Amino acid sequence: MLELKSPTIDRSKLLPASLRDDFPILQQIVHDEHPLVFLDNAASTQRPRQVIEVLRRVYERDYANVHRGIHTLSERSTEQYEEAREKVRAFIGAEKPTEIVFTSGTTAGINLVARSWGDANVKAGDEIIVTTMEHHSNLVPWQQLAERSGAVLKHIPITDDGLLVLDTLDTLLTERTKIVAVASVSNVLGTINPVTEITRRAHAAGAVVLIDAAQSVPHLATNVREIGADFLAFSGHKMLAPTGIGVLFGREELLDAMPAFLGGGSMINRVWEDRFTPAELPAKFEAGTPPIAPAIALGAAIDYLKLIGLENVQRHEHELCRYAYERLLEVDGLRILGAPPDRRAGLVSFTLPEPHAHDIAQLLDERGIAVRAGHHCTWPLHDRLKIAASTRASFYLYNTPAEVDLLVEVVGEIRERFRPKGRKRRGGS
Ligand code: PLP
Repeated sequence: MLELKSPTIDRSKLLPASLRDDFPILQQIVHDEHPLVFLDNAASTQRPRQVIEVLRRVYERDYANVHRGIHTLSERSTEQYEEAREKVRAFIGAEKPTEIVFTSGTTAGINLVARSWGDANVKAGDEIIVTTMEHHSNLVPWQQLAERSGAVLKHIPITDDGLLVLDTLDTLLTERTKIVAVASVSNVLGTINPVTEITRRAHAAGAVVLIDAAQSVPHLATNVREIGADFLAFSGHKMLAPTGIGVLFGREELLDAMPAFLGGGSMINRVWEDRFTPAELPAKFEAGTPPIAPAIALGAAIDYLKLIGLENVQRHEHELCRYAYERLLEVDGLRILGAPPDRRAGLVSFTLPEPHAHDIAQLLDERGIAVRAGHHCTWPLHDRLKIAASTRASFYLYNTPAEVDLLVEVVGEIRERFRPKGRKRRGGS
């Protein structure tokens, strides 16, 4: 009988499990008897008490609209809102707080660039480059821009292993290329893309670069100046903060030259009956009442991540992900999508011959395990991989090896239950 070498875990690389005590939502039993195992972090993460407490404090003590009122609460809220902007600036290594625009999330940030920068700079016959592994949020806005402008959309292809075929970039980039929009980490393959290298090559061709950092900023230390990014977008809810808050980083020179996007209160300097002048950055792009308490809570989430240390978060997730990757391969017939463990961030998507990904997710849920199933907003990627759907387990700082073990055990049971009658298990022990 084939002897399988058991994957082991290096516990010295893990964060202490006591950290889970900070997350009240993780302490629950689902379906009456199963402790919750939350492995749906690429979709949205949970919040620690420290973030929930800040939200509570803001609403119980400090909340009022920002920037407008000349009263105590408005001043307190404004101060904390701007402090949060400063925390974001430092967290991603931007030069100035004016380069940090609060949005409602990654999707909103990318659409802002596609509408404002895109409509002003992209004309018929120009070219936009994306990749085959983009989330719809970093694809559809560029399709819409191409439709509006008559520009051509091109794709950097991927290998069967889920890596970008970077050799194609030099032929894809031409003097007509206006923008390269790429995810730093794929939300399905987990691939960590070489965004610094892509940016260098795009700049050499005269194109600007937008990075969809929804899956990287929460997990990997990010420095926009080291990357050389022109724009970079991410979401608070994927990094321990509330929903409704996100960030668009833009180089000041570019944001300055861009026309205002949404019109309304706060984004103006002066309004007359027939015209307006826009406010200075970043207010120019923050029309209307912003997500005040969520932004302040994003600052608290950053404080929390910094206390733990993003390099420790990264090491923890990498070790868990490697372990999950190796252990899931013990399940006969299971196919893992994408890159080997050393090229990926903390998530694993897979398929089984039977049953469908949605059934796998439902059966896992019956045992208390939360995962995501479907096309994960990456339809073209699933077409490229010739699959209709996949199941994704995604990790964060509070997940444990015991949770990975349970995932593998239940996936193995599901595989056995749906194995066509009369077919023997191949290999294994
Ligand atoms: N880009 C990537 C890579 C994502 O994984 C997601 C969300 O899953 C998004 C963009 C969209 O983020 P949001 O829904 O927070 O705008």
